[in-house]
Amino acid sequence: MGDELDIVDPIKSCSVCMRKYDGKEVKRHTIKCGHIFCRACLDKTIKTRAESCPTCRKKFTSKDIIALY
Ligand SMILES: [Zn+2]
Ligand SMILES: [Zn+2]
Repeated sequence: MGDELDIVDPIKSCSVCMRKYDGKEVKRHTIKCGHIFCRACLDKTIKTRAESCPTCRKKFTSKDIIALY
């Protein structure tokens, strides 16, 4: 509580599932287009064969996923 302003910040939380990055269960991963999501959402996107960025719809594959830390 008290940090409502951070809710939509894509650096601090996944814009798909809205979970905050904690560096353990929820880690930042980036793809080709530079947008950042958690691994779970990227994996889910690949499994559903959408394979495109939830934000800009640019195509990506599992090889394009880069862990930020
Ligand atoms: Zn997510
Ligand atoms: Zn994107």
